[in-house]
Amino acid sequence: MNKPYQEISLLEFQTKYQTEEDCEKRLFDLRWPQGFACPSCGHQEYYHVTKRKLYQCKKCRHQTSLTAGTVMHNTRTSLLLWFWAIYLTSTDKRGFSALSLSKKLGLSYWKAWTMLHKIRHAMKNRDSTYQLTGIVEIDDSFFGSSTKGSSKRGRGTSKTAVIVEASTHGDAVGFAKMTVVDKVDSASIDHLVKASVRVNQPVKTDGLPVYTIVSKSGHNHIQEIVKGKKAHEVLKWTHILISNAKSFIMGTFHRFGKKHLQAYLDEFCYRFNRRKWELQLFDRLVTACVNSQAIYFAELTQ
Ligand SMILES: [Zn+2]
Repeated sequence: MNKPYQEISLLEFQTKYQTEEDCEKRLFDLRWPQGFACPSCGHQEYYHVTKRKLYQCKKCRHQTSLTAGTVMHNTRTSLLLWFWAIYLTSTDKRGFSALSLSKKLGLSYWKAWTMLHKIRHAMKNRDSTYQLTGIVEIDDSFFGSSTKGSSKRGRGTSKTAVIVEASTHGDAVGFAKMTVVDKVDSASIDHLVKASVRVNQPVKTDGLPVYTIVSKSGHNHIQEIVKGKKAHEVLKWTHILISNAKSFIMGTFHRFGKKHLQAYLDEFCYRFNRRKWELQLFDRLVTACVNSQAIYFAELTQ
């Protein structure tokens, strides 16, 4: 059985992580829960090159660090600052903007911005491993500044199209995903459903013709025409999620570029998907950061 995630309050966090060594110990335990194992040959004995913060295999001499291959790879920022950034990001329901994080931790704006995007990358990687089950609601929405005279589906506007998927079980909602797409068409819906909805799970949509593609990918398609009923009654959870995601994004990231919208949606979904485990959020997120592969600044700014 997997070890459950640790629950930690702000006071416990402050007491437990006071020095760089405290954070190193936690990262070591997360990387090598069964004790050190050389990434190259699997040997379990090592020399600790303390000055350079490296671990050298006694057998093959391969050197590795605690952050190698994680989102903190080659970082020049202290682990203590990373832990604070992860703690603050995981526990603040409204999410942290780069500006507020830079002020809180005394970092430059760009350093805070880069850390936040790397943390969001870990969130995305973690959630990408899950598939949706139950009755899966799918709907589309448009994000971005309003354009006069825009229609419900945002046709003819400069807004960004987003497809929202949510697992529902009876009256409850489970896991949710949001994906930026070039346009809401059969190809993008087909691709998403195949990637994120478990086979044979029923999929519920409104009457837009592009959604008929769902039944062709082996899912039972429940298509309800919004007539007489209001749209939010047909697809209750996707409507709530869209509205909450818009408030989250506009509340925290007053000016956000289209190219980073996906990262903000990833953060919103990650937090939403773990809403029942408030005290475990730091431990879950630091684990995701350790298990997520490295990402470089150039990739973030593409
Ligand atoms: Zn080795």
